[in-house]
Amino acid sequence: MVREKRLRIVECSPGSFVRVCGKERQLEVFEKLAEYRYEQLVFCHDKATGLRAIIAIHDTTLGPALGGCRMYPYATEDEAMVDVLRLARGMTYKAAVSGLNLGGGKSVIIGDPHTDKSEALFRSFGRYIETLGGRYIVAEDVGTSTDDANYIRVETSHVVGVDVTRGGSGDPSPLTALGVLHGMRACAEEVFGTASLEGKVVAVQGVGHVGYHLCRLLYENGASIMVTDVDEQAVRRAVREFGAKPVDLDEILTIPCDVFAPCALGAVLDDATIPELRCSIVAGSANNVLAESHHGEALAERGILYAPDYVINAGGLINVADELEGYNERRAVKRVRRIEESIRRIIAISRRDDVPTNVATDPLALERIGAISSMERLHTGHPYGQLSRRRETI
Ligand code: NAD
Repeated sequence: MVREKRLRIVECSPGSFVRVCGKERQLEVFEKLAEYRYEQLVFCHDKATGLRAIIAIHDTTLGPALGGCRMYPYATEDEAMVDVLRLARGMTYKAAVSGLNLGGGKSVIIGDPHTDKSEALFRSFGRYIETLGGRYIVAEDVGTSTDDANYIRVETSHVVGVDVTRGGSGDPSPLTALGVLHGMRACAEEVFGTASLEGKVVAVQGVGHVGYHLCRLLYENGASIMVTDVDEQAVRRAVREFGAKPVDLDEILTIPCDVFAPCALGAVLDDATIPELRCSIVAGSANNVLAESHHGEALAERGILYAPDYVINAGGLINVADELEGYNERRAVKRVRRIEESIRRIIAISRRDDVPTNVATDPLALERIGAISSMERLHTGHPYGQLSRRRETI
């Protein structure tokens, strides 16, 4: 008997689920879903457009699952599936700690974003999203752009991050930077006894989209700024506009400062770099700052307060999610400022449970999801089946 070793995707009409051939394989997929209680995994295939996509919906307790679509030439379907599952779960936690009434989801398109994009591909993908009836809302991510979101928008309204001329929220980086500033303030309050950043020395690694706006905000808040970037022009601009002091690429990790703000790459803090740090706080926009989760403990042991990345950099998500209510910048700004309170609560949980801050984020998310799901057990008297689960974010 031939046993299927690999996941085989059969052609399916929009919205139908993939049939996974081979019992052995089927069990593996469901085991993966059971591990972290994923709700749904949708395989989308369209031979005509070359679409091969996977949508993962992790948890919709708080609302529809929102998360970006990543386009990447995954070497195997397994790799794509593992990635989309991991990313979807991260979105559940990110939305929950950010106070959003959204669940966690993500999607991946298997393909090279430089060569495999087409109008038909994204519109085909949009049709699959439409079949999910609003359970999943897509946004941009690595490898996808506003142009792609615009194509998806032709086929479904369940998309955010579209062009500003179509009601989109535009470049998220100014609001991501604002969230980082507020997260930094919460850390400063804990470490220095005051949230004010006046006179504090902040070392910013990477002055691209977010780093530039962060420097602007730090400058307006009276901080002293040090910057580095592989792009010399970006450094020169920060020096010129904000009086920042340029430092070498490696020096940014070892230079004495109050706050180290990673705004370039992931995995910058590891066994080699943590002992070299001479800061009191790590607070920046970069994703996956810690090479591994245990590096959160290594920072805590060194007495360095770490603002967990997915909480402090949630400004972009909060901004784009605002499109669902008809984008209003003032409202988005107000919500982004609440990152300060989220970081404060994480610091409090970290103290309460005696765990590093990166470990304290999960309880905060789970406590909110648990509280809301238990509250919703009360029937409010709406006719059976008509209770809308759509909630406005406060
Ligand atoms: P970006 O590409 O605009 O900026 C990154 C900057 O880092 C660039 O100027 C680049 O030259 C520089 N850089 C690259 N390698 C470097 C190195 N080794 N040392 C110093 N500088 C280096 O990206 P961005 O949009 O500003 O995002 C920055 C980080 O924040 C990324 O990790 C991103 O995932 C994360 N993030 C961004 C947003 C957003 O709204 N843009 C939201 C959430 C998280």
